[in-house]
Amino acid sequence: MALTLETIVGSDLCHGCGACAASLEAGRLRMELDGSGNRRPVRTAPLRDDEQRVVATVCSGATLEHESRTAPYHPLWGPLVAVRTGYATDDALRYAGSSGGVISALALHLVTSGQASFVLHVAADETDPFGNAARPSRDRDDVMAAAGSRYSPSSPLASIATYLDAGDRFAVVAKPCDIAALRRMAKRDPRVDRQVTHMIAFMCAGLPSRQASVEVVRAMGADPGAVRRFAYRGQGWPGFARAILADGSEKRMDYATSWGTILNRHLQFRCKICPDGTGEFADVVCADAWYGKDGYPDFAERDGRSLVLSRTAKGEALLGAALGAGDIGLEDLDVGEIEKMQPYQATRKRQVLARLAALAALRRPIPRYRGLHLVEVARGAGLEALARNFVGMLRRAGKAPRVKDVEAVR
Ligand SMILES: Cc1cc2nc3c(=O)[nH]c(=O)nc-3n(C[C@H](O)[C@H](O)[C@H](O)COP(=O)(O)OP(=O)(O)OC[C@H]3O[C@@H](n4cnc5c(N)ncnc54)[C@H](O)[C@@H]3O)c2cc1C
Repeated sequence: MALTLETIVGSDLCHGCGACAASLEAGRLRMELDGSGNRRPVRTAPLRDDEQRVVATVCSGATLEHESRTAPYHPLWGPLVAVRTGYATDDALRYAGSSGGVISALALHLVTSGQASFVLHVAADETDPFGNAARPSRDRDDVMAAAGSRYSPSSPLASIATYLDAGDRFAVVAKPCDIAALRRMAKRDPRVDRQVTHMIAFMCAGLPSRQASVEVVRAMGADPGAVRRFAYRGQGWPGFARAILADGSEKRMDYATSWGTILNRHLQFRCKICPDGTGEFADVVCADAWYGKDGYPDFAERDGRSLVLSRTAKGEALLGAALGAGDIGLEDLDVGEIEKMQPYQATRKRQVLARLAALAALRRPIPRYRGLHLVEVARGAGLEALARNFVGMLRRAGKAPRVKDVEAVR
């Protein structure tokens, strides 16, 4: 039976994209920060059965399903048309971007070439240094202002109905789960396929709660209340987390410390059972094309370089056009190199099945995953790792209520 909004949110399967809020009549659901610092839908009144069916259709927290093949499917890395590394040829964009600035360069290419009127994506919320706001970028200044990863909650789809209603043609940049939800929205709203020109994602190891940003600032030795602006990456690769304080001073923390010791310890639960950290439903996906040291990515500062995967013919055409216009540089990469750059993504996909099995053993609601080759990739994890993940999830999830009372956690 399809999961209800209350079960999805109460069992922590929600990742906060806002597709449900965008798919119901305006005002029925609002996206708000919950007590643990994650964005979640809040009802204004109990949902009717037909509204619950809409939620179940669009929610990628509850269902991920490849319904048709867009390209040959690699069990670990999903549909692949081409695998490359790349960078933005605009040096300022490359410097501002998280890795090689390719996402920003593609966003700018889409608006300057007229393929899209704007790109809908996330930038820092002007009223909250740790918050994010989804907004349209129409020129280079807009794109530049939104460049860089923001490791804090975002709901990029919550406002998308406004742009669909207005008849705009636009591209969307977002996390893998957001893009998967947008594909699901297209199943019931034909305007998505007509009006969303391109779907671009970045690889995602999980979304930290708002509290994680506060912890980073405390670890920098600053008062979170004194922060006026906060950036997590960018201005170099990987760049520094930077807090600009009320007195104009700046505190910094390197990426290995901010992500590796604080942010990644505050990931929302759904990310721990995510088999799609690599954006399998996007047209193009970018990630860090880390250089390796001793078989593991090293985070030394360098000129930015992105891993660039095209997953559909449309995505490949966009890369070709941006390359032809001189907006990006690209170099072919062997598919075998991806795991050296993104070992965590390979490991998590291999382990997801064991974690789901533990949830099922506890009779917890679990997402429905179809066509992601989870059984095949689990064979590569090794029995010991699978057992460790099974037991770890049993212990962790066993302590939580089966489904939290959604009203009680508001
Ligand atoms: C939560 C999170 C997890 C990540 N996990 C990984 C990972 O596992 N592996 C990896 O290689 N890289 C990860 N990244 C970073 C990602 O590497 C880079 O964004 C990617 O390499 C693209 O770099 P770029 O220079 O092309 O992007 P840029 O040109 O810097 O553009 C970044 C784009 O991402 C959008 N964006 C930033 N933060 C958010 C957000 N919270 N929600 C929605 N959209 C956002 C911006 O609007 C912008 O359009 C993560 C980023 C985030 C925010």
